[in-house]
Amino acid sequence: MRIYLSRPHMSGHEEARVAEAFASNFVAPLGPQLDAFEATVAEYLGGGLHCVGLSSGSAALHLALRVAGVGPGDEVWISSMTFAGGIFPVNYLGATPRFFDLAPASWTLNTDLLAEELAKAARANRLPKAIVPTDLYGQSVDLDRLEALAGQYGVRLIVDSAESLGASIGPRKAGSGGDAAILSFNGNKIITTSGGGMLVTKHKDWADQARFLATQARDPAPHYEHSTYGYNYRLSNICAAIGLGQMQVLDDRAARRREIFARYNAALARSGISFMPEPEGRFSTRWLTALTIDPVQTGTDRETIRLALLEHQIESRPLWKPMHMQPLYRGAPYHGSGVDERLFEHGLCLPSGSDMSDAQQDEVIGHIMAVLSEGKSAR
Ligand SMILES: *Cc1c(COP(=O)(O)O)cnc(C)c1O
Repeated sequence: MRIYLSRPHMSGHEEARVAEAFASNFVAPLGPQLDAFEATVAEYLGGGLHCVGLSSGSAALHLALRVAGVGPGDEVWISSMTFAGGIFPVNYLGATPRFFDLAPASWTLNTDLLAEELAKAARANRLPKAIVPTDLYGQSVDLDRLEALAGQYGVRLIVDSAESLGASIGPRKAGSGGDAAILSFNGNKIITTSGGGMLVTKHKDWADQARFLATQARDPAPHYEHSTYGYNYRLSNICAAIGLGQMQVLDDRAARRREIFARYNAALARSGISFMPEPEGRFSTRWLTALTIDPVQTGTDRETIRLALLEHQIESRPLWKPMHMQPLYRGAPYHGSGVDERLFEHGLCLPSGSDMSDAQQDEVIGHIMAVLSEGKSAR
């Protein structure tokens, strides 16, 4: 049986929630299950937040940027190491990305570097409209520091928390920060609605505006009246019902992924293998176990291990390719020293699904150990 990187993991609570939606015929884009799902996530994340269920995390980022007023000619400062869905919405709005490197101690946005560049941009009167830091592989960015910087310079902060629901930093939950945060419930994320996302914001007017835009921007009138253009971006009530069942087990899922990380760490730790760090005060869900393989110290390399796993029907994947290295963004401004470039070159995400058995994980570990002890290299 193929072992996947991260696949949907149903708890058994979902079907009853979906059946409730069917029984009341709310097989529609909106309905009581969606209201309840939004309220459940808002409560989980802490007080004073507004949640809007949407068709994807990418849709949530698109709406957040639009509500923040991002448009043609604006800059959006963003972590280079991210997934396509965490950057493409900048293009949808005709804005320009400026890419930032990660800090080696957290593998999340380098806030010292960001602070330096914000100071320079303020002096030159070319501040960005918004900053979009990415919570990577289950780990929150430094929320307090980023909020302080955004406040100091009057820049909007939109946190991409698509990979970090269930994580926290100090007393704060990932997904609760900034002017807004976005979540994803895609099939590979820590919980899923079989596809979906959410905009989380402390601003009630942002949530109202996002709901309006996500339902085709219908002005109040008996006929269809439009003073701006919108989108069909709301989450289906049926999908929200799945999400309700999944929220019941979110913390268990995070605990299991951390356990999987700990088993990999215990089995594979040696010189030349570095796991993603978890700085003091941060609680990562370890959504995906991410590590780097130093070819000099191990005598092998990332690709050799990835291909050896693939031969045994085991899926693993290089870390995100930084966006400033993508053909699409060639020539875009980048600030950093290539921490992200090196993570991409040597980094691998291992199968980390919460439904993976210990026996399956032992199989993965065994194949990696075999390559490490042979010390063979594909290059
Ligand atoms: C998954 C993901 C998204 C997009 O979410 P979708 O629901 O797939 O649109 C955005 N950013 C990051 C970092 C992600 O991992």
